[in-house]
Amino acid sequence: MGESRERPGARVRGVRGSQHAAAGAPGAAARRLAEALGIHALAGGLKVEDFDYMHSLIYADEMARSGSIGPSGSLTTGFAFGVPPILKFGDEKLQERFLPDLLTGKKRCCIAITEPDAGSDVANITTTAVKAPCGKYYMVNGAKKWQVIFSFVSYSRSLSSRPQRNPNHIAGSQTVSGQTTPPWPCGRAPPDSGAAGLSLLIVPLKGHKGVSMRRLKVGGQVSGGTTYIELDNVPVRVENLVGVEGMGMRYVMTNFNHERLSVAVAVTRQARVALSAAFEYVMKREAFGKPLMDQPVVRHRLAKAGGLLESQWAWVEQFAYQMSQMPADDADRELGGMTGLLKAQAGIVLHECANTAVLLFGGNGYTRSGQGELVEMIYREVPGARIPGGSEDVLLDLAVRQLVKLYKAKTKALEAKAEL
Ligand SMILES: Cc1cc2nc3c(=O)[nH]c(=O)nc-3n(C[C@H](O)[C@H](O)[C@H](O)COP(=O)(O)OP(=O)(O)OC[C@H]3O[C@@H](n4cnc5c(N)ncnc54)[C@H](O)[C@@H]3O)c2cc1C
Repeated sequence: MGESRERPGARVRGVRGSQHAAAGAPGAAARRLAEALGIHALAGGLKVEDFDYMHSLIYADEMARSGSIGPSGSLTTGFAFGVPPILKFGDEKLQERFLPDLLTGKKRCCIAITEPDAGSDVANITTTAVKAPCGKYYMVNGAKKWQVIFSFVSYSRSLSSRPQRNPNHIAGSQTVSGQTTPPWPCGRAPPDSGAAGLSLLIVPLKGHKGVSMRRLKVGGQVSGGTTYIELDNVPVRVENLVGVEGMGMRYVMTNFNHERLSVAVAVTRQARVALSAAFEYVMKREAFGKPLMDQPVVRHRLAKAGGLLESQWAWVEQFAYQMSQMPADDADRELGGMTGLLKAQAGIVLHECANTAVLLFGGNGYTRSGQGELVEMIYREVPGARIPGGSEDVLLDLAVRQLVKLYKAKTKALEAKAEL
């Protein structure tokens, strides 16, 4: 009874105990936190501890059934990609301060890596976090672009980096994705630290001093609330650092695997919605005295796009299953590059399916109202699948580079074994 009257943060503290000993087991940490907050079961009565990547797949898939990933993006993107680094890498105090409000939806967050001049090239971000002379705050300066979500965001986790020539830079990180650098004494210019200088910092956004946000209108995902964030001398408590200074790049890369799998699931569902709508339409639409479905060319188009779609979905399911069965470290090592390929391929499949659907809807597929409005909207959202979370070209390349790395490492291990 006494425990039930404690504040959530205190209860979290009480149950966590050896949480940090369970490094690499964020699922266990999340479970303890959820229990401490009184969250014992999820929708459908699913026990929190039973939730795995297959459930995550079902969730992302169901959320995308409308055909747009804007609504699901606005509801879950910030949490899904912003909370895990706190769970995995944040210290106990940080988790106590932020997770109760985030896990219960009282506050929201986003992940802010991309900047106006650095997207694919994460190591090149220039946002800085400089320790104030008092040692209590980082002063954060920079801009973040395309963050989902705009008006709801309470916190942003970002990576900040330091420009070389600023003599006052010390260490900085915001919690969104961005780069941070190890601390440097005030008045000394840091070396060009690149990826090694990136850190993650939780930056309060809404109503916070020095923060301004404005909505960016992108081609689709209207409800996603894509945002431009300006940070002008924003004071952020040093305790808001996630994990260790200089480790931001690693944290962000780990985070990308989950993000890319989620995107692949949702995007593959979008492709199915588009193709199903086209299937239904050509069954009833008549031209030249018969339904369009009776035209061999129409069936051929549907078959080609459908084959891509079904094989992509089978791969997505296989992937989620592998992720739920493999230990996290093994999955990161073995599947990191392939997750990028899965996400890139999902965009390619969506492109093909949306294209086919628009064509088969004819003029209706190019009209923002009426029978074809859904496929018209999905077609506009194709770039929103191919670019965010790692652009297609970048991910295709990453996948093969990772395979080369694995190939070399495994060959070396086999050779070493053979010599024994
Ligand atoms: C709707 C939307 C939502 C987003 N949400 C978020 C968010 O929540 N948080 C966040 O931090 N960011 C977000 N982003 C940013 C997104 O992750 C970046 O736009 C993306 O990583 C690409 O970066 P860029 O736009 O700077 O393109 P650039 O890096 O300038 O690249 C442009 C193009 O050049 C090519 N290219 C670049 N580098 C290479 C390479 N090494 N090899 C081959 N080709 C290459 C690719 O074709 C690429 O598309 C979002 C973007 C959009 C559009």
